[in-house]
Amino acid sequence: MRNILQALQRLVQEAAVAANAEKRALGIVSSIKRIMDVGVCSLYLVDDKGGLFMAATEGLQLDCVGSIRLELDEGLVGLIGRSQHPLNVQQASKHPNYRYFPKSGEQHFDSFLGAPVVHEGKLVGVLVVEQIADRKFSDDEESFLITAAAHLGSLRASDFEVQTHASDQEVDALPSQEKGRGVSVKGIAASAGIGIGKVVLLEGTKDLMLLKDSETDDVEAELALFENALTRVEADLTEGRERLKESLSEDVAEMFDIYAMMIRSAGFIGSIQKSIRERMSAVSALRKTVAQQVDKFQSMEDDYLRSRAEDVLNLGNKIYAHLSQKRQLDLPEGKPIVLVGSLISITDIAAYSSSSLAGIVSSDGSSLSHTAVLAKALGVPAVVGVRDVLELPEGEDIIVDGYQGEVHANPSDIVRSGFEELLHSETSLKAELAKLKELPAVTPDGVRVKLYANTGLMADISPGLANGAEGVGLYRSEIPFIVSDSFPSEDEQIQTYRKVLSSYASSSVCMRTLDAGGDKPLPYYEVSEENPALGWRGVRFTMDHTGIFMTQIRAMLRASEGIDNLSIMLPMISGVEEVEYCLRQIDDAIAQLKGEGFKLKRPLVGIMAEVPAVVAILPYLKGKVDFVSIGSNDMTQYILAVDRGNSHVTRLYDYLHPAVIDTVNEVVKRSQAIGVPVSVCGEMAADPCAAVLLLGMGLETLSMVAFSIPRMKWLIRTIPQQEAQKQLELARASSRPAETRARLEVFLREYELGELLRS
Ligand code: PEP
Ligand code: MG
Repeated sequence: MRNILQALQRLVQEAAVAANAEKRALGIVSSIKRIMDVGVCSLYLVDDKGGLFMAATEGLQLDCVGSIRLELDEGLVGLIGRSQHPLNVQQASKHPNYRYFPKSGEQHFDSFLGAPVVHEGKLVGVLVVEQIADRKFSDDEESFLITAAAHLGSLRASDFEVQTHASDQEVDALPSQEKGRGVSVKGIAASAGIGIGKVVLLEGTKDLMLLKDSETDDVEAELALFENALTRVEADLTEGRERLKESLSEDVAEMFDIYAMMIRSAGFIGSIQKSIRERMSAVSALRKTVAQQVDKFQSMEDDYLRSRAEDVLNLGNKIYAHLSQKRQLDLPEGKPIVLVGSLISITDIAAYSSSSLAGIVSSDGSSLSHTAVLAKALGVPAVVGVRDVLELPEGEDIIVDGYQGEVHANPSDIVRSGFEELLHSETSLKAELAKLKELPAVTPDGVRVKLYANTGLMADISPGLANGAEGVGLYRSEIPFIVSDSFPSEDEQIQTYRKVLSSYASSSVCMRTLDAGGDKPLPYYEVSEENPALGWRGVRFTMDHTGIFMTQIRAMLRASEGIDNLSIMLPMISGVEEVEYCLRQIDDAIAQLKGEGFKLKRPLVGIMAEVPAVVAILPYLKGKVDFVSIGSNDMTQYILAVDRGNSHVTRLYDYLHPAVIDTVNEVVKRSQAIGVPVSVCGEMAADPCAAVLLLGMGLETLSMVAFSIPRMKWLIRTIPQQEAQKQLELARASSRPAETRARLEVFLREYELGELLRS
């Protein structure tokens, strides 16, 4: 059984990394046929009309693939699809639902077992095995197939997007302008927006890792070759930095310096030189060190740090390109281009002027990668994690939908013109929104709402200012801690904080104290917990590490000297004692610093309302805290018991759930009752439907990612608060989040704000 489980695990792993959907489907059926030792294994998949087509088979005639199609409820396969229940039949031909396809050669296999493949509650396919022997499949065989089907259900729906011959025929039947051999593939949305352009394929981005080890007789020559390649990559980085300078802030351009530092780090160079001295060729030595560092990053639990593996790989490939004198890409002059590659580095992006760069698509990568950060800062739409995208030919037309996380290659005329229209309306929307920059966010009935930016990276600062942020509502101070090699010193922290505070010198900056732990572990301080979200995070951690806490508070206070725009916010508060303790620490830090001669103004000190317990303790915080900011991300996860990072339960994570709406509303009312200003800094503030309700609750400060600020300003300037209140009442009277969302979408469309629903 253990072996079978291992085989199953391998099967799913292999399926997940298969080169394309066809190979994936074929790999699955051949492995299952082999493991179960049966005559036939076939996989049927649901098509966009809701029927089931044969996507792969081992054992039946191959020309059935893509051409056999059944409606739900048609044949035994359709019956399994509709009932979503396994079927084990000794003599299939005697079953009332039996349907025979003469071209399949199925007549020899009468014993039938099938199981539904379900992904997040939705049928995606049916897995079938057949055998000649006139016997029912055993219970063990049945459980194996059910288990295999359940594992397959854990793959993403897009992993199964195999083209059908049947749907090709249907496309042929459409009027000629609607024809298209277009392929649409899903990935992860990494930077919002629509981009249309020609594919520029970044070749060989993974070549380095595929190299076989080779040796050298001339160590000195290899060392010189390596040094020369490093110098050339550095020159590329400097050139790229200069090129981007005009379209980016100094802060974002500093990312190039980080890359430059990485390649000049003693550990990196030393390890490669050591291998060369041991007679490895320069490329092999490079491959070895890059592989070690990639492994190190990939084994880290934190998503952000894991995605640093991409940076190392990108750099390795850049150096390799110079070592092996690989061709650098030429620009198709004047045409909008979409960069496509397995991983796309900032130097790749920098090689193109941002005016010709219409989009970025990568087969690997995460939404937390530097590529995503840079794409967002440049306003270039990006989709990452798109399978099979490397098979696209250079010069192919491609559409990048950074809202939905989809790409459409070689689109039909109808798809293309649809997206062109969208792009056009997006461009005019941006121009319209830009006009709002200097205008206040005031509702038509006179309610003024302040719109602040959420930041954490230096790269977020200038987009915030460019989009008209009136201050910083949430500075996630753990980000500089996470990207550091160890706890940063007081002086290091001062430098970082001072940049943020001085960029917003005339407005207020709300710095949250270290919120490490949970989904944001520190790489250099591992904590093993059964249940990190309910564990040692936020103030629970800093209260046990007074030294770290005091250092941070002192750094924040010292950084604000003379600017005096700092507020301090305490994360993960669940009890009055925690607030009292932190206030004592802050007072102590102020006293210490005044004693040391610093001229400080006491900052406002507030709490995040993230733990639902805050609702009950708010009345007792009167006179103690200066403000409350609702962290709807954690608040939602704790109210609904839904891990915000767990894709299996993402569909249950909804700010429009009545329990979330009620709790947020209660925090607002109770904060107002104790005379304390209240705001929202979680993602809920940037969700247009939820924002209507927040407006209705009387919230007058919202903080969000820079991109959303102009959009929310448009919403606020359009919707009277009194109308938002009515929507809040309706939402509170409804038990179903989906109904509430649908009603709010209609409401937004009535105010001609439908375009906001895309972002
Ligand atoms: C929140 O929980 O809503 C919040 C803003 O904090 P974070 O997402 O950083 O946990
Ligand atoms: Mg939080």
